[in-house]
Amino acid sequence: MKPSRERGPATTAVSPSRAAAASILLRTLRDDAYASPLLAAESLDALAPEDRRLVQELVLGVLRWRGELDYVVNVTTGRPAEKLDAPVRIALWLGLYQLRHLERIPQHAAVNESVELVKQSSAWRGAGLVNAALRAETRQRTLAPDDRVKQPANRLAIELSHPKWMIEKWIERFGMDEARAMASANNQPPPVAFRINTLRAPSVARVLEDLAENGVYVRESEFARGAYVVTEGHLTPATRSIRDGWIYVQDEASQLVASLVDAQAGESILDIGAAPGGKTTALAAAMGNSGRIVAVDVHPSRLATLVATSGRLAVRNVTPLAADASAGLPFDARGVFDRVLVDAPCSGTGTLRRNPEIKWRLTLPDLGRFAVLQGALLDTAAARVRPGGRLVYSTCSIEVEEGEDVVRAFLERHGDFTLAGPSAPAVMRTDSGFVRTYPHVHGADGFFAAVLERAPG
Ligand code: SAM
Repeated sequence: MKPSRERGPATTAVSPSRAAAASILLRTLRDDAYASPLLAAESLDALAPEDRRLVQELVLGVLRWRGELDYVVNVTTGRPAEKLDAPVRIALWLGLYQLRHLERIPQHAAVNESVELVKQSSAWRGAGLVNAALRAETRQRTLAPDDRVKQPANRLAIELSHPKWMIEKWIERFGMDEARAMASANNQPPPVAFRINTLRAPSVARVLEDLAENGVYVRESEFARGAYVVTEGHLTPATRSIRDGWIYVQDEASQLVASLVDAQAGESILDIGAAPGGKTTALAAAMGNSGRIVAVDVHPSRLATLVATSGRLAVRNVTPLAADASAGLPFDARGVFDRVLVDAPCSGTGTLRRNPEIKWRLTLPDLGRFAVLQGALLDTAAARVRPGGRLVYSTCSIEVEEGEDVVRAFLERHGDFTLAGPSAPAVMRTDSGFVRTYPHVHGADGFFAAVLERAPG
């Protein structure tokens, strides 16, 4: 937070991790910024590794528990949280999150540093309010929800910090117990998974040795071939295997989707919604850099990340193309690609563990808007698949509106396509022939995928 030009009370220093966390939270609240790029910013490189981990824990923890924290803010301050000045609300979130969810932080540090944060902000007059609310919480933990909240969906929404509409939707579809398990899983930090980049890594054994030398231990994924999950230690950008492009951090479900494309050496692939390139570079590795991948994305800045990542991973068969694929593509070749992947923009409800801010921005009508865009991208893709070729559609959403409904409508519009039995492990195949993963069931992000085939000739 920026210091105020008006003079507030005398202040003492705030720890660099809490100051950085407050500043990132302010950007997510005021500018609708996403936390993960801010957490990866080079400006945080100056922090000691443990301080940087604390920034990450504070920011993502607050964003995951924001609904519950706001409820406690309402109770302890007697004011609606959203009416408070942003620096005051954020200082309360940070203090309450540490008091309620982080056992190893001393109470006095959680309280005093939040008070200092407010004193150093433009809203310094709120320091007394923050001090009183946090001290009240140290004396008696606030029940969230308390007995006044009777309605079950409302109670679950507060207790597990999700928007009420989302919880109601999940209860209706999955029942109370599963909705609870799902929301609970969204509040846990996700495991770190990666794949070994065969285009650069000397050997699997050498990579695992390098990781062990850095105190990082792993297990093989139970369902995504070639994927590993970290069981102990921390990967950092400075870890040799990452720095030298031997490995690429990517969720197991995202790796599984790339494998459903089943890209073969020498083929031509169209990848729509390609940036930042996780799946594109996995396809390139599967093809041993042969053939050609046209990687399309509407955002040039995200495509720039794809290009940079391709360089780090020694990917050489990708042609990036900035275009809005919902309106067609700016080249003629039709019906020529062996395989097309549409990894569509979506609500992201399968990735709430990673991007918890999404919970507080998404609305029910957004799902319908995404579905229209997803259908348009699929129509563009269909025209480019060769007869007998494959079309894979995926989203990181757990909502039917963006998954099964979109594919069923597509199949009605395109009689030359059929749903193929995907080669995914049985535990992820649905009765209707789609692929679904869920954080609370598989430990991976929540993905939907459908493998479609175009009739030959
Ligand atoms: N496939 C990527 C990966 O594995 O790293 C993730 C893709 S992300 C789920 C969806 C992408 O679709 C975003 O990068 C977004 O910029 C892109 N996108 C959104 N609307 C688009 C459009 N109309 N045309 C092309 N790309 C679009």
